Amino acid sequence: MYLFHPTHPRTAFIRVLIALALVLSGHMAQASWLSDEQAIMGTQVSVTLWHQDAVRGEQLLAQVMAEMRRIDAAYSPFKEYSELSQMNRAAAQHSAEQPLTISAEMSRLLDKALYYGRLTEGAFDITFASLARYYDYRNASQPSQLQRRQLLPAIDYRHVKLDHIGHTVYYSQPQVYVDLGGIAKGYAVDRAIELLRQAGVRHASVSAGGDSRVLGDKRGRPWLVGIKPPRGDQTHAAITLPLNDSAISTSGDYERYFIDADGERIHHIINPHTGKSSSELASVSIIGPNSFDADALSTSVFVLGGDKGLKLINTLPEFDAIVITRSGKVRYSSGLVAPE
Ligand code: AMP
Ligand code: MG
Repeated sequence: MYLFHPTHPRTAFIRVLIALALVLSGHMAQASWLSDEQAIMGTQVSVTLWHQDAVRGEQLLAQVMAEMRRIDAAYSPFKEYSELSQMNRAAAQHSAEQPLTISAEMSRLLDKALYYGRLTEGAFDITFASLARYYDYRNASQPSQLQRRQLLPAIDYRHVKLDHIGHTVYYSQPQVYVDLGGIAKGYAVDRAIELLRQAGVRHASVSAGGDSRVLGDKRGRPWLVGIKPPRGDQTHAAITLPLNDSAISTSGDYERYFIDADGERIHHIINPHTGKSSSELASVSIIGPNSFDADALSTSVFVLGGDKGLKLINTLPEFDAIVITRSGKVRYSSGLVAPE
């Protein structure tokens, strides 16, 4: 048993070899690309990052997924005890004198959503769900005529009375129901990117359904982000964009929809003025510096339509848009069109 005798020279030699092997394998395994994909917020969340230390990188992936789950738990309209569901149950019973206290984060989400309500003159409107909550895309059912008549007047973002400094809210109309589906995924993607950036990550990509944002480049190459052809066939273009340090959000009429008895496509992006699916466009992609705004703008431009939507984007120097009409025509905002 001389081999493992603590003072035998061969034992010392083996120890050095083992230590060397550990250090080398540690170094080799350390820096790598890591990724994870999970079903959260009713969609696929995927995260890819480069880290010097694979163990730390895995921890960060888990932290990002946990943050996504926290946001889902707070703002899902499908979870009975989410802060959003609680607010929807309570806010109409409160008043200017006695408003409902909400979290600072909810206040921030509402503030941004109401800002886009004003900017788009109600094309983006988080109270769309006052009526649209009665669409059931899985079971191909829609609100009745009676529901439409009764609930259309409840769609107006101005019914949501927010004090974004005091973090309070009340609804001025009893039928109002808020849904943050047009903005929450973008917010979540920004939170994920911020978490990774603060942890020192320099190359990462995060996406939640149609909302993606990349941090840095893909180590010497740009990230390639695709825009799905809306009908998955040759009628519509497949577009791939090289991006660094940017966000891209796509809203499409193919994500949640059914075809009704008249052959009409009934999908999840609602024109708040009619309470019906917005019918001009098939997909809108917004490119900009962050996902929070890009997400709100993709839904906004989808409702506004090509002319008004591109006109709005052309007033926002940080944002660009690629719009695909139902007939397959691709239109670009002025920042993406090469000067003559
Ligand atoms: P996006 O996923 O960004 O394409 O946004 C679509 C989601 O936004 C829908 O599933 C709804 O939750 C929500 N939404 C639909 N119509 C509107 C609207 N007019 N204003 C704000 N949010 C909307
Ligand atoms: Mg959006």
